[in-house]
This record gives sequence, structure tokens and C-alpha cells, in this order.
Amino acid sequence: MSSKVARILKSRELRATNVREKILELFIDAPKAITHRDIELAFDYIDRITLYRTLKAFEEKGLIHKIEDGSGVAKYARCIDNCDEDHHHDDHVHFHCNDCGDTFCVEEVEVPYIKSPSKHLVTKTTIVLNGTCEQCQ
Ligand SMILES: [Zn+2]
Ligand SMILES: [Zn+2]
Ligand SMILES: [Zn+2]
Repeated sequence: MSSKVARILKSRELRATNVREKILELFIDAPKAITHRDIELAFDYIDRITLYRTLKAFEEKGLIHKIEDGSGVAKYARCIDNCDEDHHHDDHVHFHCNDCGDTFCVEEVEVPYIKSPSKHLVTKTTIVLNGTCEQCQ
């Protein structure tokens, strides 16, 4: 087990269990956002509740962020290093490939602040670019 993963868990006050270490490793290695199903496939067996709780804990501790890409399936990706327990700073655009269905973080592109002309209070802006990923072109 890599000490890097154990160190990250420790820094977020998460007890290092085999499941947590393995899931965090998946996130670190993944070039794209991953789904519950992707994680299940990486294990011989993982109990759904454990998986759900692990993702929730990682999200709360600023390790991963959830992405709504319009596909109806929740995806998650590793956070940039300055996310923490109190704040996520993942104000970047995401890219969704219409061919393979994969979703990627586009950390170089920040989501612009869009002011609502109505009296609605904007708390979060999500931008998903759609198209064909590098692999599918
Ligand atoms: Zn984050
Ligand atoms: Zn693709
Ligand atoms: Zn992202």
C-alpha cells in the first residue's frame, strides 16, 4: 500500500482502511471522473453502503468532488490540493464526451461568475462542455 495514500488519509483525519486506501488510489490514478460502478468493478466485492459512506467522507473532507454532467449518473473526481474540510475550490469547467460518456475535469478553465438578473440567489454555477474527447476523435 502506498504511503502517499496513507499520508493523505491521515492529513484529513480519516482512518486508513484497505477500502479507503484502494478507493483513494483509484482516484489518484484515474485520468477521468469515476462512477460508483467503476469503483465496484475495481473490487472483487465491495459492500454498497461502505462505498457510499467512503465517497461521502472523501467529499466532506475535500478529497473528491461530485460532478453532475447531465448524464444522470453521479461522477466523482480528485480535488486539487487546496480543497479542505470547510471549502471546495473546484470552480472549474468539466468536459463530457458524447461518444464514450467519460467526464473530465478541465482545471485550467475557471467557471466565470454569472450574475443572475432575477432575484434568485446564485450559490453554484456548473458548466459542462460537451463534445468528443481526445480518445474518441
Ligand atoms: Zn474539491
Ligand atoms: Zn470519449
Ligand atoms: Zn472537476
